[in-house]
Amino acid sequence: MKFLIKKAGQIIVLFSLGVSIWLSLGYQEDKFTRLRKRMVEEQLASRDITDKRVLEVMGMVPRHLFVLPQYINLAYEDTPLPIEEGQTISQPYIVALMTQCLALKGDERVLEIGTGSGYQAAILAHLCREVYTIEIRESLARKAADLLARLGYQNVYVKGGDGYFGWPEKAPFDAIIVTCAANHLPPPLLEQLKDGGRLVIPLGSTLYFQTLTLVIKEGKRPRVEYILGVRFVPMIGEAEKKKR
Ligand code: SAH
Repeated sequence: MKFLIKKAGQIIVLFSLGVSIWLSLGYQEDKFTRLRKRMVEEQLASRDITDKRVLEVMGMVPRHLFVLPQYINLAYEDTPLPIEEGQTISQPYIVALMTQCLALKGDERVLEIGTGSGYQAAILAHLCREVYTIEIRESLARKAADLLARLGYQNVYVKGGDGYFGWPEKAPFDAIIVTCAANHLPPPLLEQLKDGGRLVIPLGSTLYFQTLTLVIKEGKRPRVEYILGVRFVPMIGEAEKKKR
């Protein structure tokens, strides 16, 4: 009898522990949903993010799962954050702005250079048909691929390698997004862009500031629009060998 009471007591303790963990995780999720909604209103919609689909997706993707655990409470702040290997996950506004520049409708195949945390790729995955993303730092490529798979993304393909050369086997792309800074537009990327396709890249000094640049491929002479002054981590590899 005594044994049974003890056993029942243990079961009750374990059960209530389980329930409280479950409740507090639920509370955490609610908190992040609220913070995400506020981020969309205060940092995106109140600025110049007008693409409804971009706003909707920014309000859906759990950015807090893409940042390092020690920064989880800053995940929805108006700031870039450090990730592993001295790299950064861009500020939410910049992710939204670059995505909006691509004017995606839903059926596109998009190439990203600089997978990093995988967050930008996740945003794109909701807005187009397929995302191909290249990361030069193998450990980041592996980690992002694992996380994206765990979150159920089936239309994102991650590859380790130098994105300067694009992904010729999968070209041409409807849109290309480069999330590291270069002092020139890598020619293979322009080649792998469809006619009428859009490409966005931070161009300029890789040490200091760059200009977020939108290139629209129209026949022989692409149309170029300057969007905003930005600061990105440098594109390494082949891009650094070519001083232009
Ligand atoms: N889009 C990312 C942010 C990436 S930061 C996100 O959403 O988190 C820029 C990334 O570009 C870094 O991870 C860096 O390792 C990567 N990178 C730098 N040079 C590269 C190259 N030549 N090819 C592919 N990735 C590169």
